[in-house]
Amino acid sequence: VFEPLAADFYGFADELSDDEKTALANLRAFLEAEVKPVVTEHWEKATFPREIVAGLHRTGVAAFGWEETRPFPNSAVFRGFTALELGRVDASVATYIGVQNGLVAGSVSLCGSAAQRAQWLPKLASGEVIGSFGLTEPLSGSDAAQGLRTTARHEGDHWVLNGAKRWIGNATWGDITIIWAKDEADGQVKGFIVPNDAPGFVATKIENKISLRIVQNADITLTDVIVPDENKLENANSFRDTGRVLRHTRAEVAWEAVGIAVGAYEAALAYSTQRAQFGKPIASHQLVQDLLVKSLGNITASLALVVQVSRMLDRGAQRDEHSALAKAFATSKMRETVGWCREVLGGNGIVLEYDAARFFADAEAIYSYEGTREMNTLIVGRAITGQAAFI
Ligand code: FAD
Repeated sequence: VFEPLAADFYGFADELSDDEKTALANLRAFLEAEVKPVVTEHWEKATFPREIVAGLHRTGVAAFGWEETRPFPNSAVFRGFTALELGRVDASVATYIGVQNGLVAGSVSLCGSAAQRAQWLPKLASGEVIGSFGLTEPLSGSDAAQGLRTTARHEGDHWVLNGAKRWIGNATWGDITIIWAKDEADGQVKGFIVPNDAPGFVATKIENKISLRIVQNADITLTDVIVPDENKLENANSFRDTGRVLRHTRAEVAWEAVGIAVGAYEAALAYSTQRAQFGKPIASHQLVQDLLVKSLGNITASLALVVQVSRMLDRGAQRDEHSALAKAFATSKMRETVGWCREVLGGNGIVLEYDAARFFADAEAIYSYEGTREMNTLIVGRAITGQAAFI
């Protein structure tokens, strides 16, 4: 049975269908029972909880978005709420699904041929195939459109890829990576489905992260990696196509950010009623209530924004600047909120066992990935002024 979250203060989830509410209730039950108890230890050890993958996929969380795999017709608002539920429990697990479902299956769905969709989407949805998305490079992050250096050369019935990628989530243990590379012939960025065991593909874990420690990010080198023609994403033929994928995923990251803020807020609210100082629960001190209410205000405003951006996706009205504003705004508000919520826990706010510290640390990476606040601001700035200010 679906229980609306108290942090959904204005009841945005009311518009969901019964099927959608049931699916959300199942997802939440799985996350509470199987994910929440293991994330602190994995965060500390910087390991990914592989033991949850099969069960997580059985909730359908990576199947809802695609006609080929969805169990019932559903709305973008519902899929946004699945990202919120994930973020509310753990930002790294939310990121795992964001990569697998948003970036990888999204690339296949938006840029693949019918045959590629039929071949890959069911396996990505079930978790039989684990995917990564390789756009960022050691020398190119925000300027991925112009600065991308990885090359693709067509020879006979295959392509030869050379270059390097950085930050690529899941790549040390996954099966395939969508590699974005510049065609040596026409200079356009194209997308390729590359098996991680292809000769010349080497993925090395990035160590010593202070944020999203559970996500296994990799440095990848590609040395004369051969990719058959059938693995070139049929409709990924310029950076505009990469951008189509990112428009969808940025809106999803905005939803994740709301979830992270909700997780931190719930931890702070619960703590504030249990912890007493000056002879009464800290929740009864005015300045503590101020932190909690400001947090709820951020969550409510961000939720209104992401709900609307998802409705726009469903009616075909969502443009790049809409999802860019949602990502920039929701992650900024998340960052403010996790700081306030950590503050409510005082010293315990920096100890992993109390959850707020993990949300606080993980928020930093969410703030910077899938387009920094600056990049998403410049996308909106270009749309409203007609002036591109990137360079
Ligand atoms: P840079 O581009 O070097 O930017 C550094 C700073 O300069 C930023 O504050 C930026 O906003 C600012 N800046 C740059 N240009 C301008 C400008 N014109 N005007 C104003 N400010 C500017 N990438 C993938 O491809 N796949 C993944 O799976 C993936 N996962 C990630 C997971 C994590 C945990 C992290 C941290 C990153 C991940 N990324 C991934 C990469 C991520 O998308 C990039 O980190 C991000 O796009 C920023 O690029 P950068 O780190 O190279 O920073």
